[in-house]
Amino acid sequence: MSDYKAKVENVFSDLVSQKRIPHAVLIEGSDKELLNYAVMYLSMYAVCKESFRPCTVCNSCKKAMDNTHPDIYTPKLSGKTNIISVEAVRELIKDASIIPNESDTKVFILKDVDKCMAEISQNAFLKILEEPPQSTLFILTASNSKKLLSTILSRVQVFSLNTENIIDEQTSKLAKDIISGILSVSELELMYASAKLNSRPVFKETLNLVSEYLRQGLSCAVGCDNESETARLISKKLTKSRIIKLIELCSKATIRADRNVNMNLLCTWLCSELRRISWQR
Ligand SMILES: [Zn+2]
Repeated sequence: MSDYKAKVENVFSDLVSQKRIPHAVLIEGSDKELLNYAVMYLSMYAVCKESFRPCTVCNSCKKAMDNTHPDIYTPKLSGKTNIISVEAVRELIKDASIIPNESDTKVFILKDVDKCMAEISQNAFLKILEEPPQSTLFILTASNSKKLLSTILSRVQVFSLNTENIIDEQTSKLAKDIISGILSVSELELMYASAKLNSRPVFKETLNLVSEYLRQGLSCAVGCDNESETARLISKKLTKSRIIKLIELCSKATIRADRNVNMNLLCTWLCSELRRISWQR
């Protein structure tokens, strides 16, 4: 848990040490949990009244955490697709000209702007970025900043939470243990391996890799050459339809991990589902 907190603090350490609040920040990242924490961290930084901000314990910080701070705004999303409409942007611009209630800074949070803001809304929003009112902080998030207008990008300070896709040895070993647990006659091996997936990032990374091995196994099963021993083993021991079901299970489990579920329960569920699919008669 504290792992991602440390990561966020590290990303913003320069900003925080300058004790300056920028007008607009774009946080880029694909991990929702990490993004949400980063947004909360910056909001606390903006409204906290202690000298070492964010203190995370004062009243202002607590309100930011509970989403009850009167100076932290999120625009209303409209329609089935949850878009930030031009009207919502205009409203926000109006709001931004009013001075804050409790804190020295007013915070506006606009999430997933690469998905929620059409060009027309981005253009409307651009106006306020060109002449930002004093004491406002706009926090934008996106999974892919390249999808935004360059005029927006040039007016925000971009922070990236994306890490390179380096697969470390530990993840690779764990993924192989899971595969060998799936293929093993005894259930114990899979139980041991899946119990190690109890942290969310490890869970997601490992399952991603398990899924990759399964795909290689599938391509082996349909006659493609594959040098990997793991892939060959999978294709020998599992039918194609089972491999496909296992791949589907991996993506389903990853989606579940993104919701705020109990990781131990998720691991137990995954273990029994992997077992059921591989060994069902
Ligand atoms: Zn505080």
